[in-house]
Amino acid sequence: MSAAPSVAESGRELTFDVVVVGAGFAGMYMLHRLRGLGFSVRVYEQGSDVGGTWYWNRYPGARCDVESMQYSYSFSEELQQEWNWSERYAPQPEILKYARHVADRFGLRSDIVFNTRVECAAFDEDRKSWGVMTSDGKLVRAQFVVLATGCLSNARMPDIKGLAGFAGRVFHTGHWPHEGVDFTGQRVGVIGTGSSAIQSVPVIARQASHLFVFQRTPNFSIPARNAPLTAEEREAFRKNYAEIRRFAREDARNGIYAELPERGALEDGENARRARYEQRWASGGLTFMLAYNNLILDKAANDTAADFVREKIAEIVSDPMTARRLQPDNHPIGTKRICVDTDYYATFNRPNVTLVDIHGRGIDEILPHAVRAGSENYEIDALVLATGFDAMTGSVAKIDIRGRGGKTLNQKWAEGPKTYLGLMSEGFPNLFLITGPGSPSVLSNMIVSIEQHVDWIADCLSFMRRSALASIEASPDAEERWVAHVNEVAEMTLYPQANSWYMGANIPGKPRIFMPYIGGVGVYRRICNDVAAKGYEGFTMRARQAAQAVAMS
Ligand code: NAP
Repeated sequence: MSAAPSVAESGRELTFDVVVVGAGFAGMYMLHRLRGLGFSVRVYEQGSDVGGTWYWNRYPGARCDVESMQYSYSFSEELQQEWNWSERYAPQPEILKYARHVADRFGLRSDIVFNTRVECAAFDEDRKSWGVMTSDGKLVRAQFVVLATGCLSNARMPDIKGLAGFAGRVFHTGHWPHEGVDFTGQRVGVIGTGSSAIQSVPVIARQASHLFVFQRTPNFSIPARNAPLTAEEREAFRKNYAEIRRFAREDARNGIYAELPERGALEDGENARRARYEQRWASGGLTFMLAYNNLILDKAANDTAADFVREKIAEIVSDPMTARRLQPDNHPIGTKRICVDTDYYATFNRPNVTLVDIHGRGIDEILPHAVRAGSENYEIDALVLATGFDAMTGSVAKIDIRGRGGKTLNQKWAEGPKTYLGLMSEGFPNLFLITGPGSPSVLSNMIVSIEQHVDWIADCLSFMRRSALASIEASPDAEERWVAHVNEVAEMTLYPQANSWYMGANIPGKPRIFMPYIGGVGVYRRICNDVAAKGYEGFTMRARQAAQAVAMS
């Protein structure tokens, strides 16, 4: 490993200490940390700019569902003190502007190659390094590869008969045109009712002459209560940032600073419980699920929260049949990612909006000018697919990754992803995942989890450099134990009861396994720190001269 950034050219091959895949929030911070430690780093990004998920997801109404004062980097005191978020939940263009600002402020762009995909990566056991092939046909060599590919970045095109023959324009929320889309005067169909649809439907409804929302499964949504941030509100955060960030990292289950509940839902009587839910509904946002401490553990407790939201839907939506169809009843509340909206349910009171219930039968086919469902034709000019992502593993699976013995990661993960701590997978030395399956990732404020993983990886690489170690790999036993633990903890909750993308259930043929670690970000951080403190327990590290294995397992 070189001590200072150095790029040696050997024939056609460029050599780096680390190749990072992706320039979203994870890739940008990884680059910043490693460069600061004197490693040479090259980042490859398939988009034409930084931002990752906020670069691609430009659909109308896209905004974060974690408050922006918290969904932001904490690594730079100056940055968090100086950046002015305009709203409680910043809209996508502002989050992208923030990502660009970070790239410029820390001079990151010079080490990022845009418009370039990593196509394959193969581990050379003799050289203990990775050969990485990019979409422009270049081969680079790096001792380490870090996959900062994002958990929700592989947009999923549904397999619906006739889709290719649709005569109008087709959009996917996760791959929205940069120039924006104006639906004024058009008849629009939206397929899907997850977070992306729930954010975009109210905005599209205000433009379209008519909007048809094709709903296979209703989701629970909580009002965002978005509003402009006042200077006083920003200041309150800034003054207390040290404690807010500490709490989010160490005490919170989900990486969000919030009041933690001490009581279970059934410990309160009917009136007190309702008052508490009303108060949470009025303040809005994801923390609705923190009304009580057992909503995700106890079905009877969960039912009280689900009933409350179903009642709210019935109050808001004027047509009783539409209200009933919008009320979720096939999964406990919170076991699918809860949605956060602005006027979603009220949008169905508009005369130009129709909810089409396709539950149990799906869409028959797409015709050149209509969606056919339940033997009815719904004439449309434009189609929006809000059909989600091949989550957590999809972006990794698109890269041809070959580890020891030429085994591919896709072969290894054929029965579901297997990792140690969500950071590495046995058989793939020197390959790190940021917020990989088996870590809290999508169950948390992503930036908190990203910073934790990046810092852990940076510390690990520094340790290896100091100790003249050439490779690190998860040991099979440690990985088996971690996978078992991740499953065991998930089974203690209600989460596995839902057919969610957390379980891979939205992708036909994908193995059903609960992918994120649900033990909480604070607990998880302590486990990771403990592993490092014990000399990277559960990992096997080797010096450059073979056979000098430093078995930490
Ligand atoms: P999603 O939650 O997976 O929702 C996809 C929707 O499309 C579901 O309603 C699904 O129905 C439907 N669908 C899929 N294939 C279909 C088909 N062939 N026919 C009919 N319906 C079909 O995807 P998403 O809304 O893009 O959200 C994914 C995740 O991204 C969220 O859970 C969240 O974590 C993240 N996200 C966050 C924000 C935010 O920060 N505010 C915004 C957007 C997304 P079924 O349920 O029946 O499968």
